[in-house]
Amino acid sequence: MSHDHATTEADRDFGISYAKLPGDCYAQVAPTPVAAPKLLKLNCDLARDLGLSVEWLASPEGVATLAGNRALAGVDPLATAYAGHQFGNWVPSLGDGRAIQIGEARDRSGIRRDIQLKGSGPTPFSRGGDGRAAIGPVLREYVLSEAMFALGIPTTRALGMVTTGEPVYRERAEPGAILTRVAAGFVRVGTFQYFHGRAMTDHVRALADYVIERQNPSAMGGSNPYRELLAGVIDRQAALIARWMLVGFIHGVMNTDNMSITGETIDYGPCAFMDEYEPGKVFSSIDRNGRYAYQQQPNVGLWNLTRFAETLVPLLADDETEAVESAKAALDHYPELFHRYYGAGLLEKMGLVESNDENRAVASAFLELLAAGRADFTLCFRRLSTLHLDDPAGDEAVRSLFADPAPFDAWSSTWRERLRTERRDDASRNAGMQAVNPAFIARNHRVAQSIEALENDGDSGPLDALLTVTGSPYTEHAEFADYESPPAPHEVVHQTFCGT
Ligand code: AMP
Ligand code: MG
Repeated sequence: MSHDHATTEADRDFGISYAKLPGDCYAQVAPTPVAAPKLLKLNCDLARDLGLSVEWLASPEGVATLAGNRALAGVDPLATAYAGHQFGNWVPSLGDGRAIQIGEARDRSGIRRDIQLKGSGPTPFSRGGDGRAAIGPVLREYVLSEAMFALGIPTTRALGMVTTGEPVYRERAEPGAILTRVAAGFVRVGTFQYFHGRAMTDHVRALADYVIERQNPSAMGGSNPYRELLAGVIDRQAALIARWMLVGFIHGVMNTDNMSITGETIDYGPCAFMDEYEPGKVFSSIDRNGRYAYQQQPNVGLWNLTRFAETLVPLLADDETEAVESAKAALDHYPELFHRYYGAGLLEKMGLVESNDENRAVASAFLELLAAGRADFTLCFRRLSTLHLDDPAGDEAVRSLFADPAPFDAWSSTWRERLRTERRDDASRNAGMQAVNPAFIARNHRVAQSIEALENDGDSGPLDALLTVTGSPYTEHAEFADYESPPAPHEVVHQTFCGT
């Protein structure tokens, strides 16, 4: 599919396709202008992919657009309605309370992407909130979402961030900022729930038709496209959550309004990559019962998908019993799909090729070893990726990560036995492992340091360094080798906050 990438925004059609849905799916609302917009960061690669001129985006007109002070030509911005289960509790009306879609653009591969401002002022869905965002959470979302993209994990992206020149009041006054984020779609499980909860089946159908046309056009030819939609969403979430687990990512607020129909990671709040491997790990200050702990994520995924399936039941068959059976059958696939994606990924991380019980056992034993030794998840896998089969001299790199290396030594001899049966040479195994075990993740303490340097000293050096290493996470960066390391004890971040 080819289309012209215009160099100026005036030649482009940024019209929002969501606007053709029934009027109660959204509210047309313009961003509230801000006092003194200043560009903090522009994602030039993403801009080019969307066919947007970097020069224009960096110009006063472009910055004004990213700040919500001017609209893209011919577009009526909008905020969408949605509901959701927050920590298991049903909330019938949420919606974009501080996000406004300002346009839609096709990327180079012809995929339509929504462009949204986050922190751009109140909307009819703000429920008393100010519609704004502080610089810390905006920077956090920018870094984390771009780090996920570079890891190859489906995610919303960050096109740019601006400061507003206005304070926002949280626990204290903080500089206000606006993130421009881009997604294949911002429809959430909670968007379907909003209409299902009001028994508005025609709206659920219209929404389903919209996402099918936009994201699953192949489903349109089938006998029941809604069944294919359900199966597709289940498959994408199983794959996504498996990827999270494999890099130690904890989303932190897996409410149904934060689960995207596209299978992209969305709504970066108190999310974090864990340092030490701890299956029950929770960072979010608001997740008091550990509902969204690291190891809970696959189960929560199924819980959320079950809520999604409930909204589609009226569309799955004319006969209700048949419809419910069909939804159950689709959901029953999820555990198998998740284990297939996760299991395959874990074996790759271990440098093992064959999916058999012995290999799976050695992989689980490694995770148990990490948990027992509270060892650094990312660093252990990265260093394991450099070991040689017949020369244990290099093992010290991994051994030294454990207070007591004896269990690792016992484990590594079993691992080597497994590797020997596969007859792969060191070089290709090492390369394969390094391509899936990142050297760099957006570690909490680095994110915190970047925010502090920028807020306190106006110094963007730490942010730029962090974006550089997390932007090519599988490659060594000799000058930033420190960024591979876990935090020193005094640098450990114990809690993360929503920042709303
Ligand atoms: P979140 O926890 O960020 O996913 O947000 C949950 C809900 O609260 C969503 O409907 C948001 O739009 C809304 N919200 C969060 N922060 C604000 C804010 N500062 N102003 C208005 N609405 C907000
Ligand atoms: Mg949200």
